[in-house]
Amino acid sequence: MNNKNPLSEQNPAMYDVAIVGCGPTGAVLANLLAECGHSVLVLEREAGILQLPRAIRFDAECMRVFQSIGLLQRLGEQVSAAPGMKFVNAAGELLIEWQRPVALGSHGWSACYRVHQPDLEHALRERLLERPAVQLLTRHDVFALTEHADHVALSYENMRNGELLTGRARYVIGCDGARSLVRRLMGSALEDLQLHERWLVIDFMLKRPLPELGDYSIQYCDPQRPSTYICGAGQRRRWEVMVMPGDDLAQINTPEWIWACLSRWIGPADAEIERSAVYMFHSVVAQQWRRGRLLIAGDAAHQTPPFMGQGMAAGIRDAANLAWKLRAVLAGEADDALLDSYASERIPHVREFIEGAVRFGDIIQATDSEAVAARDASLSCAIERFRTPEPALGPGAHDGAPEGVAGQVTPQFRLADGSLMDDVTGYRYLLLCRPEALTLACHLADASVSCRAADEPAMRAWLDSLGACAALIRPDRYLHGLAHTETDLEPLLLRAFPLTPGNSEPLRSNCA
Ligand SMILES: Cc1cc2nc3c(=O)[nH]c(=O)nc-3n(C[C@H](O)[C@H](O)[C@H](O)COP(=O)(O)OP(=O)(O)OC[C@H]3O[C@@H](n4cnc5c(N)ncnc54)[C@H](O)[C@@H]3O)c2cc1C
Repeated sequence: MNNKNPLSEQNPAMYDVAIVGCGPTGAVLANLLAECGHSVLVLEREAGILQLPRAIRFDAECMRVFQSIGLLQRLGEQVSAAPGMKFVNAAGELLIEWQRPVALGSHGWSACYRVHQPDLEHALRERLLERPAVQLLTRHDVFALTEHADHVALSYENMRNGELLTGRARYVIGCDGARSLVRRLMGSALEDLQLHERWLVIDFMLKRPLPELGDYSIQYCDPQRPSTYICGAGQRRRWEVMVMPGDDLAQINTPEWIWACLSRWIGPADAEIERSAVYMFHSVVAQQWRRGRLLIAGDAAHQTPPFMGQGMAAGIRDAANLAWKLRAVLAGEADDALLDSYASERIPHVREFIEGAVRFGDIIQATDSEAVAARDASLSCAIERFRTPEPALGPGAHDGAPEGVAGQVTPQFRLADGSLMDDVTGYRYLLLCRPEALTLACHLADASVSCRAADEPAMRAWLDSLGACAALIRPDRYLHGLAHTETDLEPLLLRAFPLTPGNSEPLRSNCA
């Protein structure tokens, strides 16, 4: 890691943004902010990357964020497309099938990927180290924040030598995980979504191929011992088993107990235990995500049981939602009230996934015999075909109602030369319009907007399906709003950029 520390100066440097915590959320946010040209201080308590058994799946939307920060080459073969998940009862009958197509879908990527969270975090940090505007200080523990009119003062300790230091930043984002100090300093309470259950999670490294385990994840909804099998990246395989009443907590995380518990599927001749941990899964959402210049993101703002594999993904969505808003506010292009739309948009979105995971949890974790019988009867006679939800954002920085489609995530199109649209656009606004409206769009839009003619059949079909002449897509790939006719173009841009001088100084956009 970079050891240079400018902060022992009397008058410490002023960063645009300081990020507390360099887990996946903090690392993605720092990368996006650097992509926007900002100076970023990242303070991380730990020396290295946490080696706990955590995220093992991410979705196509996350892949688009990784694309935006130039991570794909680095991720390379560390990730691979993964099919969906099956829920079976104790008799082995299928209850729910969650299909996640491996074929490239509307985002330009497969629906779901296998990953080893430490590998992903390593790639994110390597990318950060290439960015001169980012200062990453590991083994630095933040312990106090003081808000001033135009900045926040951070107090932190260099844990290598106990030196106490101060830093300054226009905004501080707490990406500091479930026990977030920033959240507590903000005085933000947690709303409880009512699932708290103890599980043991074990990662194995196969010694020999075991194709009979299969590619699909399986939720064994067995009241004797609810368990999950997940095919991880490369030779990694994971089991998660619920801790039952009567289990000896001192025993369950020992190799003897683990091999005995899983002997039906795997034994010491097949694999070695890479690591294991007992977790209490929680389902909570912080009630307040911003107080003045302090904001929170990732597990600091929400926690979910992992049944939908969405905890890290939600943090990555937070980062993608927040970075462009911080850019606009720091550049003076938007009032800082724009930052309030971060929570109003993200809370309903993340709630939908947490509530989905709680519902899955109720199905998987049922142990009461009557509840299990009712569940099996209702699900096994009509196997539920579950699809990954794509909820709209809550109200905020988009046109929202009455259009209905604004606030939804948009597709990623492939251009005639084979390139992907997000790569051509970058992490900024895109105005995708019918070819005949391009000249006017370029005339009206500001330089921060990339204007593009919908010259591919799939793009035209999408605009047709929306009855639109043009679609304004935000840097996080969510739809700001539509122009149904050329006359609607100017009002659409004025709604999106009320403070931008481009409204009175046209002809500066990037047109293609
Ligand atoms: C068993 C399990 C399976 C999971 N599976 C999936 C999955 O398949 N897909 C998925 O999307 N998610 C999954 N998750 C969730 C995912 O692991 C987390 O949501 C994700 O790690 C949260 O990232 P974060 O950056 O917000 O927080 P963290 O990863 O917790 O990072 C917070 C960082 O902040 C640092 N920090 C804290 N306080 C301070 C301080 N005061 N000063 C400096 N640094 C500080 C910490 O050291 C830490 O590095 C799973 C979780 C578990 C437990």
